[in-house]
Amino acid sequence: MGSVGFTFIWNGKNGFEVKDCSGNQFSVDTGKRICSCGSWQLCGIPCPHAITCLHENKKPLEEAVSDCYSKATFMRTYDHVLNPAGQKKVETKTSVK
Ligand SMILES: [Zn+2]
Repeated sequence: MGSVGFTFIWNGKNGFEVKDCSGNQFSVDTGKRICSCGSWQLCGIPCPHAITCLHENKKPLEEAVSDCYSKATFMRTYDHVLNPAGQKKVETKTSVK
């Protein structure tokens, strides 16, 4: 069974074979966050094939998204501050009259 036009076969753990309505077949490993379409590894966000598998296993989608999108990572990224460099007066002279 599947959703959104996908059918899949589950190996009993984290592996799935997903087939779309056009007959294209993809391998998904929900434990390693891998899909053979490459989208999940590239973007860090589950592709439709992976979402189908995660939904079937009743795993929360939030846990399948890369940590780079988390609030904690965002806060760590912008935790440091830039110190003021002071103000330097810049004079420009033009010869145009
Ligand atoms: Zn995929």
